[in-house]
Amino acid sequence: MKVAVIGSGLGGMLSAAILSEKGFEIDVFEKLPFIGGRFTNIEYKGFQLSTGALHMVPHGSRGPLAKLLRRAGAKVEIVDSKPAGEALYKGRRTEIRKKKFPLKSRLNFIKWCLKSRFREVKISEFENDLDDFSRGFLRAFLGWSLSITPDEAIFSKILPIYHQTVKCGGPGIPIGGCKSVIDALTEIVTSNDGRIRKRTGVKAIKPQDYGFSVYAGKDIKHYDIVISNIGHVETGKLLNNEYATHVEPSSGIKYSISLKEPFIGHTGVLFTFNTRRISGMNEVTNADPNLGKGHLLMAHQPVLTNNIRYEIAQGLKDLREILKGHEYEILAIQSYSDGWPVNRVKAGQDIGFETPYRNLYVVGDGAKGDDIEVEGIALGVERVIKRIEEMP
Ligand SMILES: Cc1cc2nc3c(=O)[nH]c(=O)nc-3n(C[C@H](O)[C@H](O)[C@H](O)COP(=O)(O)OP(=O)(O)OC[C@H]3O[C@@H](n4cnc5c(N)ncnc54)[C@H](O)[C@@H]3O)c2cc1C
Repeated sequence: MKVAVIGSGLGGMLSAAILSEKGFEIDVFEKLPFIGGRFTNIEYKGFQLSTGALHMVPHGSRGPLAKLLRRAGAKVEIVDSKPAGEALYKGRRTEIRKKKFPLKSRLNFIKWCLKSRFREVKISEFENDLDDFSRGFLRAFLGWSLSITPDEAIFSKILPIYHQTVKCGGPGIPIGGCKSVIDALTEIVTSNDGRIRKRTGVKAIKPQDYGFSVYAGKDIKHYDIVISNIGHVETGKLLNNEYATHVEPSSGIKYSISLKEPFIGHTGVLFTFNTRRISGMNEVTNADPNLGKGHLLMAHQPVLTNNIRYEIAQGLKDLREILKGHEYEILAIQSYSDGWPVNRVKAGQDIGFETPYRNLYVVGDGAKGDDIEVEGIALGVERVIKRIEEMP
């Protein structure tokens, strides 16, 4: 059976690798000159910066992505973060552990879990019931990992992420960064005679009685199955059927910073509480020194207004305060929105992998399963593979 994969982001490449192993004939179409979308490296001044992700896999070697990579036979080593997270709170650093959250706040968490069963609860309602430390953590966590504020987050949609974190554990960093994951998947696809065509954007998908005609570059080819890695909205445009219009992306700003001496000094996340914008940072060179010729610190902030210059000014003020007394250079400031966002669909608004067309599925961060970031992408891909395997 012939499968067209539109887009070579993580979701597309995971699907392509697994299906190519199962004997499907795969063509991956990528409009850009590189493979990996928002999950690969950009080399700059001897540092492995990235096209998007902060080189972190949210549940490390025990999460859904790591499991799916193992299932695909992808050789990727993920270093689990130790500690998973630390807080920069009132000028002091402290490891984030359960006992840091006062009993009253933990009981309130249970209370709001129950409330959220009966009505839609915004995280901003729940946070009013928390002490300052717990509230600071919640805000920093949402900003760092989902690039949203408590006002934008629905309690019941965030809860699965909490459960997954309890079940699978904290983050990890792949040796070689995001690109090592994409390279391993590329190798599987090509070793199974799958083709990856860079600089070949798909312009249209036309459903036929059986299968689809895919218009890519100058070619029109027939496929039995189409897997789209470009989100429901863009997929709808290619079909000339804009079936999904009610989704909203999340924006963010990433700062890549070089230091001569380590600032964080470990492989986990430093969540920054009660700042103007910066929610957290990691220092990926502590997991893999080859990611930079010095130390590479990556900081992230959500975007709270429409004025991007103002947002960056706020982020830079935070960084000056946080890094005071340290010698550092800002290598890059990258902003993410619209067609190249942090999340194509804001956390909790994913609409699943199905489209109005049989044998046309969406993977990637527009169609995640119940988990965070690339872990959700892995769960989404797993569902699509299962559906394809169940085909008569
Ligand atoms: C600043 C930032 C930090 C992040 N940090 C993390 C992190 O640390 N950990 C984590 O788990 N997640 C993180 N994420 C999220 C993660 O990077 C994304 O969720 C993930 O990379 C998206 O993958 P995807 O499968 O949706 O594909 P995408 O990356 O969206 O790739 C889609 C591909 O399709 C191509 N394409 C588009 N249209 C067409 C067309 N018509 N024809 C052919 N090709 C087309 C695009 O060029 C692109 O290459 C971060 C994101 C950002 C922006």
